[in-house]
Amino acid sequence: MDFETIMSTLPAALKALDTAAMYLKKEKLSAAERADLETKVLEAKKCIAEAELESVKLKSNIERLQSELRRKVGVVFQHPLAFAEGVSSPICPVCWGDREKVIPLQCHLDQTDFYGDRGEMYFCRSCENEWTLEVGWLEKNRPE
Ligand SMILES: [Zn+2]
Repeated sequence: MDFETIMSTLPAALKALDTAAMYLKKEKLSAAERADLETKVLEAKKCIAEAELESVKLKSNIERLQSELRRKVGVVFQHPLAFAEGVSSPICPVCWGDREKVIPLQCHLDQTDFYGDRGEMYFCRSCENEWTLEVGWLEKNRPE
């Protein structure tokens, strides 16, 4: 059942519940009223169950489409980092690999690391990974 159909059945479900609530206010129900009440409650339950099922399907579709959209962002891996279309600095390959998130890395082009080696340092503010690469790595590896 599609979303519009589900949405169009919800007013009927609410009306059925209103009728059920009205019956419940009466002290004594006739056999016909009791049968109608049971029917209305079942109708409402069916509508709500269908709406819930449709909601799960729609959520799954949204997640699939979001994932496809993220994949369409052109990402190129240049070991050990990656580049994304429209982002001038390298992006974090860990965040892209794990969560398909484009996180531009902070670049410090001429640094001396903990071991005393000079190089280009790249830091991800999201996962806090860092890479120290040879001087000139960015110029040699940036996609055209
Ligand atoms: Zn990261």
